[in-house]
Amino acid sequence: MSTFENLNLSKLLQNAIAELGFDTPTPIQEEAFPVILSGKDIVGIAQTGTGKTLAYMLPILQDLKFSKQINPRVLVLVPTRELVLQVVEMAESFARYTSIRVLGVYGGVNISTQKQKVAQGTDILVATPGRLYDLALSGSLQLKGVNKLVIDEVDVMLDLGFRFQLANIFELLPARRQNIMFSATMTDEVAALIDDDFVTPAKISIALSGTPLDNIEQQCYDVPNFYTKVNLLSHLVFNRNEFRKVLVFVSNKNSADRLFTAFQEKHSSETGIIHSNKTQNYRFKAIKDFDEGKNRILIATDIIARGLDLDKVTHVINFDTPSFPENYIHRIGRTGRAEQQGKSILFYTEKEEEAKDRIEALMSYQIPLLDFPGEVEISSQKTPEERAITGDTKNPFRNEKKIVLAPGFHEKKAKNMKTNQGGSYKKDLALKYKKPKTKGDKTFKGRDKKR
Ligand code: ADP
Ligand code: MG
Repeated sequence: MSTFENLNLSKLLQNAIAELGFDTPTPIQEEAFPVILSGKDIVGIAQTGTGKTLAYMLPILQDLKFSKQINPRVLVLVPTRELVLQVVEMAESFARYTSIRVLGVYGGVNISTQKQKVAQGTDILVATPGRLYDLALSGSLQLKGVNKLVIDEVDVMLDLGFRFQLANIFELLPARRQNIMFSATMTDEVAALIDDDFVTPAKISIALSGTPLDNIEQQCYDVPNFYTKVNLLSHLVFNRNEFRKVLVFVSNKNSADRLFTAFQEKHSSETGIIHSNKTQNYRFKAIKDFDEGKNRILIATDIIARGLDLDKVTHVINFDTPSFPENYIHRIGRTGRAEQQGKSILFYTEKEEEAKDRIEALMSYQIPLLDFPGEVEISSQKTPEERAITGDTKNPFRNEKKIVLAPGFHEKKAKNMKTNQGGSYKKDLALKYKKPKTKGDKTFKGRDKKR
């Protein structure tokens, strides 16, 4: 069996690992380590909750020598502010032993405090793209010293909403640098972009893009409408012994607020809410209260679907069905982390059935359907959207930013996203990686390794 010793970690890092209580590296940690140390560009795909943060952090820390340099040498880009905090926390649990400096910067809070911190100098800078760019433009931050760039959740980061911001940032980075990219899912477009823009990155896939973990049990209910979903949810979480920590995903702020209001009647003292219209302090507090068990239930939009490592979430409820199937994979990945058991329950209406089909196609798995409990009341109350029969869910990461597109460049409608479902990417992967001569031919290795 592989151990951390096989990685020849420095003594300091070994101690830090022991302190964290980890015995063995996860497959992605083991396989990414030598590749990252070798200095090659790399794309790593592994399921959510399998330790991708350490997979890039360990070799980076191993390589980073003590320095008094003010400008950062390692830049880690992540899509959300919450994720900045977590990556910083993980890096710090090692940095403490190594005199390496780590700093996180993100939007939604005062920039001058961050300018001061940047001025004090750091080795590793973890950031959301918008705030990073603002800091760089203001002259407070110099990026010419960055020789390693990590892009976590790379598929969403290189997608439309972030692409232009990233292109601006790339201009400020030295051309000679190592690019390190990770995600649990990958779309065709992003895979193509990576192939075009980065120097033939080594690809490491522990599982095919979009493969959920075996330790997450999935189920679904066919539910007629929004308010019946509220009744069903309320009925389910009534079972406190089983539903100990419940993360409820809703695809937009309005529905989240509406659900929160409806839920207040019965569960006001144990329910929190988080979405992008809340202040940053409110957002951090909502996560903290939930993570620490103060609130048993958290209603959230997809802003926290990516990357966030919450302690022992027992259930992820998909209150609605994401129209981008990758979002489902990321949502349910908030449970079943670090080999724990987790449960995911999807509610879908007739209108959402197509989206559910796309999810099942991406996973090559049919989500078991449960009988609708007889004791749950079917509501005839309608939301404004149900009355109007319009409105689709959207990917908060993908198309949030208003971008003026060149003539003839049209964004795809969700229903036309067929090329982007991971299916053909999977086929590509299969083709690419089955060839033994391909560099980093690790796709199928480890798939059957029971971890
Ligand atoms: P991912 O980015 O793949 O979704 P994370 O890096 O957030 O996963 O890690 C998920 C969880 O697994 C974290 O709680 C982390 O502390 C834990 N973890 C990471 N590496 C190991 C390991 N080698 N052994 C045990 N637990 C680990
Ligand atoms: Mg991650």
